[in-house]
Amino acid sequence: MDLDIFDRLESQVRSYIRDFPVVFARAQGSHIFDENGRRYLDFFSGAGTLNYGHNNPVFKRPLLDYLESDGIAHALDMATSAKKRFLEVFERAVLAPRGLAYTLQFTGPTGANAVEAAFKLARQVKRRHNIVAFTHSFHGVSAGALAATANQKFRGAAGTALGNVSFMPYDGYLGEGVDTLDYLQTCLGDPSSGLDRPAAVIVETVQGEGGINEAGARWLRRLESLCRAHDMLLIVDDIQTGCGRTGDFFSFEASGIRPDIVTLSKSLSGFGLPMSLVLLRPDIDQWQPGAHSGTFRGNNLAFVTAAAAAEHYWSDDCFSREIAARAATLRAGLERIAAAHTDAALAVRGRGMILGLASSDSALAGRIAQRTFGHGVIIETSGARGEVLKFLPALTMSEESLAEGLAIVERALAEVLDPAVVN
Ligand code: PLP
Repeated sequence: MDLDIFDRLESQVRSYIRDFPVVFARAQGSHIFDENGRRYLDFFSGAGTLNYGHNNPVFKRPLLDYLESDGIAHALDMATSAKKRFLEVFERAVLAPRGLAYTLQFTGPTGANAVEAAFKLARQVKRRHNIVAFTHSFHGVSAGALAATANQKFRGAAGTALGNVSFMPYDGYLGEGVDTLDYLQTCLGDPSSGLDRPAAVIVETVQGEGGINEAGARWLRRLESLCRAHDMLLIVDDIQTGCGRTGDFFSFEASGIRPDIVTLSKSLSGFGLPMSLVLLRPDIDQWQPGAHSGTFRGNNLAFVTAAAAAEHYWSDDCFSREIAARAATLRAGLERIAAAHTDAALAVRGRGMILGLASSDSALAGRIAQRTFGHGVIIETSGARGEVLKFLPALTMSEESLAEGLAIVERALAEVLDPAVVN
């Protein structure tokens, strides 16, 4: 396919286009079509942005109606009907049933914007500069968020020192049987540990970019207790794992923890429209009016679709039960593939609909992903060395499409393991 204009005019920084070198033209549900009309099954979901599939009619109709009625498109942080409706529905469908009483801060539209705001406020409130982040974490690539992102590929691009963050071992980092929080607890209790007293801890309950590493519920609860005991704010970065990805609306619900701050973005608007949100325990909302700003805080088109998402999918627990059923199918499929190809020594990781097939051969996942794309399925890799094949289908994907995608991945795996299989 002709990618000449992209090669000539676009920066070398482009990345996904290199893995999926076609020109995408339209999409519906779990299918994307390129300019030649070739169909691809989407096991990638815009890195967790399209949890409800592409151009879902649940959002498309209200969005078109809003545009046709000349609804407000841009309003900084002024009050609009679209924002009012989102606030009402989010409170009723998402916060109230979970007994959560967060204050909402709309930031600039990217996930990194939400993380930056969370860090800034935590540092202000606690009057301390240090934040604890974890090995293999990913929180964005703007300077403040990048300081809490572990991967050297991103850190190396900063061109400046990245500071005010201390990295601690994530759950499982030191192998089975080691509770990595022993180290954090020891450091916090030792005035000579070298750890500057943190304002906050930021954690992903499942590390998406870091290799689909899952923090156990007990580990998360202990982390919460450490935060309480040492007066540190607990920030859960639910940018990739929120909005149903692990089964519940918030990924931390299953563990029973109550974060002080939650960052949300990606699938919040449901439609792929940029939107970010920071949820704050009300007493830590100590911002001075206008102290943190941004031209694109609160995308009104996104408010329309985000309200529709909250209303349609989260007004009761039906969708959570559907996700659990699909997640069980996906996990069973991956476990069957791992068991059928013991020579590849694959391990299944993750929770809900964010699952990974991890290999000790760091090149394997990339080769499978490439071949899978050749067979019409879009899938990406993650992990420190790209060693994990990352399964992020839409939460609405049909059982047939799940089965079709899994069969294609297995075919690609067989071909990579034994090129003689290719016919
Ligand atoms: N936090 C997490 C957990 C993410 O997965 C991401 C993006 O993948 C971000 C933050 C940054 O979001 P954005 O790329 O929109 O800045």
